[in-house]
Amino acid sequence: MNIEELKKGNPVIEDIAACREVFWNNPDCACKGCACGGSGQVEQPAGQADQPSGQADQKLVDIDEAEARLIRFAPFIEKVYPEVLDGIIESDLTEIPDMKEALAADTGGVLDPVRIQGRLFLKCDSHLPISGSVKARGGIYEVLKFAEKVAMDNGMLSEEDDYSILAEPRFRELFGRYSVAVGSTGNLGLSIGIMSAKLGFQVTVHMSADARQWKKDMLRSKGVIVKEYPDDYEAAVAQGRREAEADPNCHFVDDENSLDLFAGYSVAGKRLKQQLEARGVTIDEEHRLYVYLPCGVGGAPGGVTYGIKEYFGDKAYCYFAEPTHAPCMMLGLASGLHNRISVKDIGIDGITEADGLAVGRASALVADAMQTRLCGCFTVNDSRLYPILAMLEDTEDLFIEPSACAGFEGLKHICGGEADCPAPDENSVHIVWATGGNMVPENERESYYIKGCKALEAAE
Ligand SMILES: *Cc1c(COP(=O)(O)O)cnc(C)c1O
Repeated sequence: MNIEELKKGNPVIEDIAACREVFWNNPDCACKGCACGGSGQVEQPAGQADQPSGQADQKLVDIDEAEARLIRFAPFIEKVYPEVLDGIIESDLTEIPDMKEALAADTGGVLDPVRIQGRLFLKCDSHLPISGSVKARGGIYEVLKFAEKVAMDNGMLSEEDDYSILAEPRFRELFGRYSVAVGSTGNLGLSIGIMSAKLGFQVTVHMSADARQWKKDMLRSKGVIVKEYPDDYEAAVAQGRREAEADPNCHFVDDENSLDLFAGYSVAGKRLKQQLEARGVTIDEEHRLYVYLPCGVGGAPGGVTYGIKEYFGDKAYCYFAEPTHAPCMMLGLASGLHNRISVKDIGIDGITEADGLAVGRASALVADAMQTRLCGCFTVNDSRLYPILAMLEDTEDLFIEPSACAGFEGLKHICGGEADCPAPDENSVHIVWATGGNMVPENERESYYIKGCKALEAAE
């Protein structure tokens, strides 16, 4: 790959390679009203043979089918996790006016002050039940789907049954003959590990070097086999895939290519629509929706964006946040090379304190699906994450993990007029997607918070 050539035809690659904070408008975004003209026409850079197929109208997954499956499982979830209301794994949408105000303040350059036009909400996937991160959507969905298939193939379950029977010992015994494996930076491992172990599957989580120690400890305490790699996420996934292939009774959850994960995430779009309606928040031509989602390999924000675009269409504008040291989706989309380029190819180390986002190569499936659906991407310095974390704790009494703070940085770009998509106004609705936090142990929370406070104080 000729990187110099790539940079020449695409100046943003130069900024990405220098690990600068970058805001990038996706020229292929198919929203009506975007400066790109809404053509959604995808121009491939010279020398790229294969055409992306991710046109905005192409159906990738069936959201209704996925939701129906989650509803079938609700009696089981309710039985084994009584704290999950009605057995439906969903999070609150919380308006955060005090945070909105705090974000406008001068922090001496620690954060750039931003005057937000419209209302600001936090989508609290940080507090999703069972595994405390956005991965509870896709990860748990995929494990449940696998369990359903195994039970049905063995003639022990039909769609009409009350799925709470799955908690009976005969099912644990059945599932104990099967295994589940996954490669993860941490949170996907938690979701897959916790739910698989609960059902009775043997489960192995291949953890990358970025994964925090407490996540490994927690999984081991639940009987999950945790294998650690000195290498990055890509290596952990590759090893997991290899080991799983050798075992016909092993289901490998493929974070880079799974349509089941994607489907589980996408249900969020439908639920968000219901949630906004229930609160009387209108989304239409005059009340536009802006959504900011932290991105690692792309599955979670990609699936959520897919769902949002299915239910809100051109009235919703979605943007991905990535660390300056691991901007795989921005690089993949801006270069047109999707998963055929890694941040390492342009000299970036992929090392970031945003452990959930420490991914060097984007998912091909997601990059393809985002080509015309995503409005843009931006990168965030690690130094921004802790002050945001502390500010949110101080103003709204909400804790989210560092990775989950990245979305907030999108507000300054969009409200600062950098977007090609229509600018927000006083009628707009902004949703920052908080992707994780509830499982973080108290001592870790405290140290993140103190770090954020110190950064803010030092600037005063
Ligand atoms: C995994 C994760 C993301 C991003 O999800 P991907 O599917 O890897 O893009 C964002 N935030 C947190 C906290 C995560 O754990």
